[in-house]
Amino acid sequence: MAIRRIVTQGDDRLAKKCRTVTDFNKRLHVLLDDMQETLAEAQGAGLAAPQVGILRRAVVIVDDEENMLELVNPEILEESGEQRGPEGCLSVPGKWGMVTRPNCVRIKAQDRYGNWFEMEGEGLMARCFCHEIEHLDGHLYVEHIDHFLTDEEVEAFYEEEEARKGER
Ligand code: ZN
Repeated sequence: MAIRRIVTQGDDRLAKKCRTVTDFNKRLHVLLDDMQETLAEAQGAGLAAPQVGILRRAVVIVDDEENMLELVNPEILEESGEQRGPEGCLSVPGKWGMVTRPNCVRIKAQDRYGNWFEMEGEGLMARCFCHEIEHLDGHLYVEHIDHFLTDEEVEAFYEEEEARKGER
């Protein structure tokens, strides 16, 4: 396994539509292993192949139980509800923006051997599915925001969130 370099906003490869994975071979497995290691090291929530410069439809995500999920050729099947919260990206380091996403997202994807599966994500997972799948089509979350959040705005959001939880 190896840590790969994460490309940042402005790199052409982040703006390209990625190709479908058709070969579930050693090469793909090495890529997924490397993406897992790169994501763990960067302490991010998700990483898409174009972020390490590979234009293939592959994503790794940290799930609610801190496990690494691999999604090959992921597609959104259904979405519902709405959530609004700060979102960041390893390719836009140190910045946050307020993004509205569906609160519940159902996807289908293939595993590293080509087997299809479906899964549902809520809250952060749903946000992550949308964010990472957008990467595969050459889009970044910054297209959804009107400004980057200040540290104060991020802090205020999480304070309000805590207060809301307290009320429940
Ligand atoms: Zn991202």
